[in-house]
Amino acid sequence: MPKLIHYRAKCIGCGICHDLQPDLWRMSKKDGLATLVNGELKKDTHQLEINEQIAKQSKYAVESCPVGIIKVMK
Ligand code: SF4
Repeated sequence: MPKLIHYRAKCIGCGICHDLQPDLWRMSKKDGLATLVNGELKKDTHQLEINEQIAKQSKYAVESCPVGIIKVMK
């Protein structure tokens, strides 16, 4: 199953991922950064298993993140 990977520490809080996928991304009221909803913390990343359809949709967030910290792993 594909995984969505987020290197949260490098997030700049621009909000693009949340605008594109509001069900997957929440903007933290505490620090203003994006949080991957239901993401599991593994080392320095948050990870979430996703289906193929969401993996395809996520390519826009991957391409749009200005600091390149969203990845889809197959
Ligand atoms: S698009 Fe990237 S930098 Fe912007 S809020 Fe989302 S993860 Fe952070």
